[in-house]
Parts: sequence; structure tokens; C-alpha cells
Amino acid sequence: MDRAPYVDMVFGPQTLHRLPKMYDHAIHSNESSIDISFPKVEKFDAFPGVQDADPSAFVSIMEGCSKICSFCVVPKTRGYEVSREPDQIINEIKDLANKGVREINLLGQNVNAYRSKNKIGEKLKLSDLINLVFSINGIDRIRFTTSHPLQFTDDLIEVYRNPKLANYLHLPVQSGSNRILKLMRRKYKVERYIDRIEKLRIVRPDISISSDFIVGFPGETEKDFEETLKLVDDIGFDQSFSFIYSPRPNTTAAEMEDDVPYKVKLERLQLLQSKINKNAKKISNKMINTSQEVLVEKHSKKDMNQLTGRTENNRWVNFDGPASLIGEFVNIKITEALTNSLRGRVFETN
Ligand code: SF4
Repeated sequence: MDRAPYVDMVFGPQTLHRLPKMYDHAIHSNESSIDISFPKVEKFDAFPGVQDADPSAFVSIMEGCSKICSFCVVPKTRGYEVSREPDQIINEIKDLANKGVREINLLGQNVNAYRSKNKIGEKLKLSDLINLVFSINGIDRIRFTTSHPLQFTDDLIEVYRNPKLANYLHLPVQSGSNRILKLMRRKYKVERYIDRIEKLRIVRPDISISSDFIVGFPGETEKDFEETLKLVDDIGFDQSFSFIYSPRPNTTAAEMEDDVPYKVKLERLQLLQSKINKNAKKISNKMINTSQEVLVEKHSKKDMNQLTGRTENNRWVNFDGPASLIGEFVNIKITEALTNSLRGRVFETN
């Protein structure tokens, strides 16, 4: 405030809901105010309920992260892990279901670190919460994001036996090299990651797996990168959110020498992405002539006469159909696989 006297209010991600009060204070007192505290989950109580909901909705179940990866600012900006109470979450989802929502995406920076207690004091983990969501009428598809391999435990794999959990998992591995994972302070080894996916594929043999990758982390050698490419082949990733490493202020990685030349980082990123894109195209091609359950979400952006929705494995499908199908699960025969979407035609509504 001393450096910027023209600023009236400063608030953080956990005090966003206090903005109206801060605004009133600034208007009436002519004083500036700062609130960058981390009240636990008070924010969620303060948000107004949703009026009109889309067929697919996000519901925050926890915030923050206590993992402290060496490259990441999240624990410093969002605070450590805090979980909402299960009753609050379930009531919010029931309310959304009453408004026509059919798919819920349970959201958090580190969603499988969810820990809470029910009214009688029993401890609940993410798998317990998902089991509660399974029983909510009207909610027929559940997703969760983002997970950490360390807490991707057997109980979470078990809940995949319920077909309401979408056949898609985003589980960020970041690198296929144990040496780099250690420098990243990810606290697991590649073997752990592979073991989790192998166990999951016993329950869901054709599940689609996506991951985040960072290429060109300080000290990443050609051999480290080749190990990442090998992991991509071994797992058969379907999607990636991959980035070139760049230092973030106030992280321990920022103190390491950023020694991989930009040109090399770029080449590695292109190689990684083209490998994963090829695999994704292969998976899309295999879907041609199959029937896919699609939640119809809206009119297609490119053609208002068409509808669009997502398959279980998170692919957008465009097809002809009446607007009355929006909000319904529809079986679509896939007729064409494009780079970023599919085309199909309606078989039947559920
Ligand atoms: S990368 Fe993910 S797990 Fe690691 S500190 Fe950041 S939010 Fe947490």
C-alpha cells in the first residue's frame, strides 16, 4: 500500500467473498484495506447458490496443497490443503441435481488429499465422498480433478467399479525420470505411478489417462527425457497438459540453474506432444463405429444447428439433434475422428 497509495483494496483467493464488505469500508471510511488471510472454508458458505446450471458442473471439495513441489507456487498462493465438510458438498450437489445437472466434477488442487469427518465423527476420504455422490438421484456421471499419484490409493481404484465414475483419469506424473521427480520433490517414483495405472486398468481396462508434464526442468538430460518418452509409450497417455519449464518466483527450483537451452526445451516439448497426440488420434480412430454415451451440454459453437457433448473419455462430439436433448445422456454412433473432436449421430436417448 505504501508503494501504491492509489490502491483501495487488496484481497487473496481465500478472501474473495469479503470483497463487498471491503468495498463498503473503502467507500465509507476513505481508508484502504488488506485481507490476504486464509480463513479455512468460510468462502464456500458465502457464495450465492447457482441459479441456472449447465448439465455439467464443477463443485469445489477442497483447496490448497501441502505437497510443496519444488517448481510450484500453489501452496504459497492458495495455502495448505483444506477440505469442505461432506454435508455442505452433498447439499450443493443435490441442489445442482434439482436444477438439471447430470455430471459433477469434484474439484481441488489436490483432490485426493480430501480429508473430512461426517456428523458422527467418522473420517472420510475422497473415495468415501464419491460413494456418497453415487447415491444422489439425477447425478449419473462423476469426474474428479486434479489428483496426485502419492494419494492415489487402492480405495480410490476400488470406486472405479461403479460405472458412474467416468472412464477418464487425469493423474499428473510430470516426468518419467526418477532423478527429475526427486529434484521436483514429487515424493513418488515412476514405478509407483506405473503400479497405480496397472492396478486401475485391472478394474477399468480401457480407461483414458491424461497427465501434466514439465519438460526442460533444471538438470534434465537427454536420458531423463527419453525416460519420459518411454513412460508415455508404456502408459499410452490419451491427453497431456505439457509445458516448458520456467522458474516461478519464491520456489526452490528457481534457485537451481535453468540449464536446458530454450531450443532444446522446445524440441522436447514438440516431441512429447506429437507422441501423445498420435496416441490420442489412435484412440479416437478406434472409437469410430462404436456407440458412446454422451452428455449433451449445448449447441455446437461452429454450427448452431448441431449439438455437442462429451464422451466418458472427455472427447467433444458434434452431431445433429433437437435442442430438447440438452441435459440428456444420449448414445451416439461415432462416424468421424477429427484432431480435437469427434462427429457422430444419435442412436437413442437414455
Ligand atoms: S504441483 Fe500440484 S501437488 Fe505440487 S505443489 Fe503444486 S499443486 Fe501441489
